[in-house]
Amino acid sequence: MFEGLTAAAADPILGLADIYNADERTHKINLSVGIYKDENMLTPILNCVKKAETFLLEREQTKSYLPIDGLATFNSATQKLLFGEDSPLLQTGRVKTAQAPGGTGALRIMADFLARRTKVRRIWVSNPTWPNHQSVFQTAGLEVREYRYYNPHTHELDFATLLEDLSQISAGDAVLFHGCCHNPTGIDPTAEQWQAISDVAAKNGWLPVFDLAYQGFGKNLDDDAFGVRFFAEHQPELLIASSYSKNFGLYNERVGALTLIAQNDDIATKAFSQIKTMIRANYSNPPSHGAKIVAYILNDPEMKNEWIDELTTMRQRIHRMRQLFVKTLQEKGARQDFSFIAKQNGMFSFSGLTESQVLTLRDDYGIYTVNSGRINVAGMTLDNMSLLCESIVKVLA
Ligand code: PMP
Repeated sequence: MFEGLTAAAADPILGLADIYNADERTHKINLSVGIYKDENMLTPILNCVKKAETFLLEREQTKSYLPIDGLATFNSATQKLLFGEDSPLLQTGRVKTAQAPGGTGALRIMADFLARRTKVRRIWVSNPTWPNHQSVFQTAGLEVREYRYYNPHTHELDFATLLEDLSQISAGDAVLFHGCCHNPTGIDPTAEQWQAISDVAAKNGWLPVFDLAYQGFGKNLDDDAFGVRFFAEHQPELLIASSYSKNFGLYNERVGALTLIAQNDDIATKAFSQIKTMIRANYSNPPSHGAKIVAYILNDPEMKNEWIDELTTMRQRIHRMRQLFVKTLQEKGARQDFSFIAKQNGMFSFSGLTESQVLTLRDDYGIYTVNSGRINVAGMTLDNMSLLCESIVKVLA
């Protein structure tokens, strides 16, 4: 059975981490993987998470299974974070949430549900997008198509062509949006643009679905959910995959959620029961530890404030690095205008570096970015900025 198999290509992003780790150059810089790093190049456990863990470990009484849809207190806290504490939507019964193993797990359950339980056969994703979107949806059996999103000449959202493409998509298809901090471009629609996109969804009748992996990394928790909230108010149906990997730094605990909105409580209850059948057949029920941490923090006002402070610190550091990167590139003599990088949201930037420039940076300078030119701004520090910018300017010359 196995003899005829050829080796699969290494994951374009995770594969790079192995090459980086094997690189013996001491001045190497890693801007490839999507992980937050602090000024010391570390990804520490948040203080609020450590506190929650200590509290929970002391009181934990059982390792018995969670329900198929996970921890109820986690799911309700997820809904409040998505839609706002006092959102009237939460009183309607139209919203159902299932805990999932990370944002990826939520996307996979979303994909299985669409492919096996609804009439959706095709999903549209932005060009470019996080490469795993393609893999997750295709593996679940959906056809994946792309809509245009990014203008490489202006380094902006290509809104006219985006709307043109979305207007051609018909009812029965699903369309995926990044809720905020678009990965890899760092460019999100404005409030007015989200409204215009929502109008096209309503007119054409395609199903909007969201991937929200960076809530709190863009502007703040509420503004980053604007698109999701606007769609939740104006669309009859919606699916949202949330991830707590970045904003709680809980990467390896695999904490995420899948949220469904339907026209009314009855339809939502039935549809959600189908989502549960997908979970049952996939991993039966989710792991408990990470979700308990998130639920404990979000449901305790003091702990929640502590978390928001730590999240703000991460966001502000990235923002400072964006500005310093633009300034240092200029100081080192870059002839190109990189000011667009300071305007982008989240950890990522589409730098505009070509694949051959990316390879030269890696081979000659020990600077690792993804082949597409995506850089993780969180990999920059006060210490490595000068060398980084000098190297980039040399490669661009
Ligand atoms: N969606 C996007 C856009 C992402 O960037 C990521 C993480 N790189 C995920 C989903 C998956 O997150 P998780 O680690 O929670 O599975």
